[in-house]
Amino acid sequence: MARTIIRNGSIVSLDPDIGELEEADVLIEDGEIIEVGHGLSASNAEVIDASNHIVLPGFVDSHIHLWQTQVRGIAGDWSLMGDYFDDMLGNIAGLYQPEDMYLRNLFGALEKLHTGTTTALDWSHAINTPEHAERAVDGLKDAGLRTLYAYGPPGNDAETWWFESTESHPEEHVRQLRDEKIADDDLLNLGLALRGPDFTTEEVARADIELARDLGVVATIHMGAALWPSSVYGEDYQGFGAITDMLGPDVNVAHANHFSQEDIDHAVEQGVFFSATPEVEMQMGHGIPVTGKVLEAGSRPTWGVDVCSNISGDMGSQMRIGLQVQRMFDNQEILEGDQEVTEVSLTCRDALESATIEGARALGMEDEIGSLTPGKRADIIMIRTDDFMTAPCHSPIQTVVFQSDPSHIDTVLVDGEPVKRDGELLNPIVEEEFDRFVESGCRLIDEAGLDL
Ligand SMILES: [Zn+2]
Repeated sequence: MARTIIRNGSIVSLDPDIGELEEADVLIEDGEIIEVGHGLSASNAEVIDASNHIVLPGFVDSHIHLWQTQVRGIAGDWSLMGDYFDDMLGNIAGLYQPEDMYLRNLFGALEKLHTGTTTALDWSHAINTPEHAERAVDGLKDAGLRTLYAYGPPGNDAETWWFESTESHPEEHVRQLRDEKIADDDLLNLGLALRGPDFTTEEVARADIELARDLGVVATIHMGAALWPSSVYGEDYQGFGAITDMLGPDVNVAHANHFSQEDIDHAVEQGVFFSATPEVEMQMGHGIPVTGKVLEAGSRPTWGVDVCSNISGDMGSQMRIGLQVQRMFDNQEILEGDQEVTEVSLTCRDALESATIEGARALGMEDEIGSLTPGKRADIIMIRTDDFMTAPCHSPIQTVVFQSDPSHIDTVLVDGEPVKRDGELLNPIVEEEFDRFVESGCRLIDEAGLDL
């Protein structure tokens, strides 16, 4: 039996029964959290000294397209309905070869681990052949990130797949990938990255969700971003439209900026989870993040990085931006009522929970991850509080949310296994594959013929 004990940390468990503990321990056996408390005994355990560290669950990114990792830094000035649709989905996506998919997911996942995200929902389109998905999954496996791999449509034929598409999700390939690559892997879960009623016919939107139900997996869908599809078809936005009666806790909606409060209320009643991707949405013209409407409906938002060709894969930024932008709207409403703002609406704890346990719920994984709870898997990060930028630490949660950045993430464990120690990733593949990764990104940009 492999035992590890994390000693003398400042524990932010995000488990309401455990709360925050100073100078406390986390005992891990075979990748499972056994106990969280003071002065735990642990014979024959590997000891990780957590003095001067905050110990908390790893972040959960509920929506990212890891495939854009090696074309990072090109879309920082793009809008969704301008360059992104034309250049990313209409051009670059079609140029990906299976080996590019391997390298993109390998380094995208390594970036996630380095910056403290231990679980991500990878919304994987650009699956131009079944081999593309196989190699994407190989990259995740070699990096060691816990992932809900959401199998999406091809990226080399936008006309067929993204405009009132009559093509159903590629069921045979999905089942094959599940059986051959995902079913027996402890860190991987399958999901379906569906186009939904904004991009397909009503029949296809419904059939795709039925397929997800048949497979028993999460259906994750982009909806209600920008004015699409009303800007294309000249209709008012229809909300959930054809899938209104098919919603449930296994449906995850990314964006939903233009849904009415009524739509969100209905969805929350049915158990739907929402992914706000605040930084990308604010840049690219999606509209106002859905955070406020989700809270109004009595649920809680989750955060996602979304388009990592625009922005960094660091979840800390999404936590900060998601929190502050919602506070701005709430404060403005009070000011417009001629009142002073005397307290803030959302707390740092709210933002951190959205980045951890709420993300876990959205991915259907709350029994496995998202808090330091005995019985859950040991996906744990440790943040230094003795750095000149983080010391002195008076409130661990505030230090995590506002005073630390990825450079303070000292240690990361996934399933009880250290993947980062003393601020460095342990996986030698970072150096082994680095040159191929860079070459892949440069070739894609060259072939795309973009004038950057
Ligand atoms: Zn997205």
